[in-house]
Amino acid sequence: MAERARPGVRDDLRALEGYHSPQVDVAVRLNTNEAPEGPPTAWRAELLAELAEVDFHRYPDRAATALRAAIAEHEGVEPDQVLAANGSNEVIQSVCLAYGGAGRTAALFEPTYRMHAHIAAVAGTAVVQGGRTGDLLLDLDEVRRVLGRHEPAITFVCSPNNPTGLLEAPDTIRAVVDLAPGVVVVDEAYGQFAPWSARTLVDEDRPLVVTRTYSKTWSMAALRLGYLIGPSWLVAELEKVVLPYHLDVAQQIAGRLALRHGAEMQARVAALVEQRERLAAALAGLPVDTWPSAANFILFRPRDRSGDDVWQGLLDRSVLVRNCASWPGLEGCLRVTVGTPAENDAFLAALSEVLT
Ligand SMILES: *Cc1c(COP(=O)(O)O)cnc(C)c1O
Repeated sequence: MAERARPGVRDDLRALEGYHSPQVDVAVRLNTNEAPEGPPTAWRAELLAELAEVDFHRYPDRAATALRAAIAEHEGVEPDQVLAANGSNEVIQSVCLAYGGAGRTAALFEPTYRMHAHIAAVAGTAVVQGGRTGDLLLDLDEVRRVLGRHEPAITFVCSPNNPTGLLEAPDTIRAVVDLAPGVVVVDEAYGQFAPWSARTLVDEDRPLVVTRTYSKTWSMAALRLGYLIGPSWLVAELEKVVLPYHLDVAQQIAGRLALRHGAEMQARVAALVEQRERLAAALAGLPVDTWPSAANFILFRPRDRSGDDVWQGLLDRSVLVRNCASWPGLEGCLRVTVGTPAENDAFLAALSEVLT
């Protein structure tokens, strides 16, 4: 049979790469910033009990009413100020579909979470990338320049930023919201580990949304659940672009029940922050540069060895971290997720070995 020409993909997608974070089989996996342990045992039992009663032949609650009410109570906002979706990545996609798209621009400041640019581009949004200060924080002069020149419909900020772990000051976020001509998305996937949150700035008069996820603190990466809080009029627009019944019944139940275990989660966050500080102190004694983290991971750069070599050396010792060595602005850098005390010990032992 004659070979048939393959249909061409959209021109603007041709150059785009997929999301790559290798899922390698190793003893110590510290590369994707997940929680090191599963959700509370009581939560599992509650989830299974409720699932046993589900009418599986019916569509789930399309508005996710009970879940949104629980999130709203947890966050101190109204249910109509909450949008829940399949991970905060779908939340971000919804913002891009509603406020980005053809002829519109999204702005972000590198280095930052790579999915912002990717999701915006897939939604047909032009992406403009600004830089940062030498210490990798936001530079308000640069923000003013980029937002003034490109008038973006969406401005992304990630705080604490992935992959640097750096937290932006309240005044900086306030200034970005004042400068931005469109919607400002503050991605707080790691917000629980930080001493302050942009949630306090969310109200009906600001085009500001704050995104959060169950994937990190809540130990539920497998369930794909995230949400944003923002003005109700903006949430109403986002509801137009999500697919009907996009949140399945198990996600809705799981997310609602998880919030009952807030105290235990807070204790876990405190323990991880303690481990983070222990890791940071240990790294300070090794020939690496580090950045102060307000998240559950630490960015570091070996001084005398290439990032690729150190990454491979760790992998040879069955420790997997994230290799950021080739990312613009992060030459030679690696990112390690805070794990259990035993995993952190294993990482430190392997790193000391590789570096000496
Ligand atoms: C991990 C992470 C997320 C989480 O995405 P989900 O789709 O909720 O799993 C979002 N933003 C940042 C910056 C992250 O690092």
